Amino acid sequence: MKYEKATEKAAVYKGSRWQKKRAYILKRDGYKCQECARYGRQRQGAHVHHVYPVEFYPEEAYNSCNLITLCRQCHNKMHDRETHGLTATGKALQKRMKQRYGSRLPPLEAN
Ligand SMILES: [Zn+2]
Ligand SMILES: [Zn+2]
Repeated sequence: MKYEKATEKAAVYKGSRWQKKRAYILKRDGYKCQECARYGRQRQGAHVHHVYPVEFYPEEAYNSCNLITLCRQCHNKMHDRETHGLTATGKALQKRMKQRYGSRLPPLEAN
């Protein structure tokens, strides 16, 4: 199961479809970290984060509502390196995005 998910994730990041989507999201967000922007900081962002992780929501991999531009520091805060799940910060972002986009994103899980 875990192997399958890792493979799926690798396949997304290798594909040209992802490269195009990533470029689109960076442009949409003005190449700025959207998390820093909430705190009035202007910082370049080069990471496109899946708000609902690819491992668990492969069907949302290319959903623009599920994607956001972050700087490296903010991106690191979203992922728990040990569990590969989202941190509390990552979950808070997920909640905000769900509130913003409604039915265009999957229901939030109670975790
Ligand atoms: Zn940031
Ligand atoms: Zn991420």
